[in-house]
Amino acid sequence: MGSSVCEEAPLLNLTPEHEMFRQSVRRFVEREINPYIDKWEADKCYPGRELFPKLGELGALGPSYPEEYGGGGGDYAYNYLMSEELGQAAALGVPMGIMVHTDMATPALAQFGSEELKQKFLVPAIQGKLISAIAVSEPDAGSDVASLTTSAVSDGDHYIINGSKMWITNGTQADFVVTLMRTTPGNSAKGMSLVVVPTDSEGFKVSRSIDKMGNHSSDTAALTYENVRVPKSFCIGEEGRGFQLQMQQFQKERLVGTGLALGGMDRCLSMTAQYCKERKTFGKPIIENQYVHFRLAELRTEVELLRQMAHHCTNQIIAGQDCTRDVSMAKLKAGRLCREVADACIQFHGGMGYAEEYPMARYYRDARLLSIGAGADEIMLTILARMEGYI
Ligand SMILES: Cc1cc2nc3c(=O)[nH]c(=O)nc-3n(C[C@H](O)[C@H](O)[C@H](O)COP(=O)(O)OP(=O)(O)OC[C@H]3O[C@@H](n4cnc5c(N)ncnc54)[C@H](O)[C@@H]3O)c2cc1C
Repeated sequence: MGSSVCEEAPLLNLTPEHEMFRQSVRRFVEREINPYIDKWEADKCYPGRELFPKLGELGALGPSYPEEYGGGGGDYAYNYLMSEELGQAAALGVPMGIMVHTDMATPALAQFGSEELKQKFLVPAIQGKLISAIAVSEPDAGSDVASLTTSAVSDGDHYIINGSKMWITNGTQADFVVTLMRTTPGNSAKGMSLVVVPTDSEGFKVSRSIDKMGNHSSDTAALTYENVRVPKSFCIGEEGRGFQLQMQQFQKERLVGTGLALGGMDRCLSMTAQYCKERKTFGKPIIENQYVHFRLAELRTEVELLRQMAHHCTNQIIAGQDCTRDVSMAKLKAGRLCREVADACIQFHGGMGYAEEYPMARYYRDARLLSIGAGADEIMLTILARMEGYI
């Protein structure tokens, strides 16, 4: 067995160029990430400053962004394929840090940012010279994005920003943080804007680094903004449209989150099947127990069904269609399925599944995030219940 994204997934219309890109990301994971990942897990941070220029050189930091800004000019299948490949890395923290930069913090900037913003932030982000983060969540506003309180008041042609953000991936090392804030007072989804905040701005502070259950190689920070002065021209798109832009940006975040989960599940299921073929109990390989091979076959089936859904969502994005419903379903299923897969893989490894020397325990911890981050399962269910007309 073993899965090749390309061979097993005819839904995406992949060209030899897509395949070459996929292989180059795979080699990058093997050469530039996996050999160092244990150290980065122990450091509780990956070295973005070293890694991003190499990714930039590979063309992996903006494969579908326009060539005039240094991007690859390809379709969104490149980004999606990258997520599945990065998901096969030996820990999910570094892939998450990379994909926050490529698919969560920069899509709105690339699509709606002014020429000034794109030259100043997008071009160096694609080159890997600048690291980005996306700051939506706050200590008192996570699932309920519309209740956030970080605010900007107008001062001539500048904003003065005050507030705090929580759980920000890449937060300790980002050069700029795309921040969702209120530019018009109120307490609803209206009057918010997405503003690029350079982290060397006076009054911007990383208040603390958050120690987590998993994704150890990815840094996660709490941020404070105290009278941070930023030009109004750093607002992405029209002032007051930030909530809508962020909701749109979330769709890519949820899709690549699903891709990362699929890559991780591919890796864990393959490793577990191999382990069960080699390990013997009661005089025969564990895999020969019908319960074991049935369970693995069942999980593989679910993984492949989910992959088809993720590829369908990728096609929707390529066609310029709204994928909110289908990607919410995919992300919900991905979060739940990777918990099931991780649990089964640990179980079939026995004691070794529980030991840190085998990768299953780390995957179990890392994968748990997906049902919480980028909108918890219950938020996906709320979106779906609304779209289906149940509520
Ligand atoms: C490791 C990590 C990295 C992250 N990276 C980022 C990042 O880079 N940028 C960023 O902006 N945010 C980031 N987040 C934040 C993440 O998006 C939030 O944690 C998530 O949206 C949930 O918000 P919350 O933690 O405030 O939980 P809460 O909103 O307090 O919700 C807690 C739980 O309550 C339940 N719940 C909430 N609302 C409802 C409802 N309406 N119906 C039923 N149940 C409900 C759910 O089970 C939910 O999990 C990250 C989080 C983590 C853990």
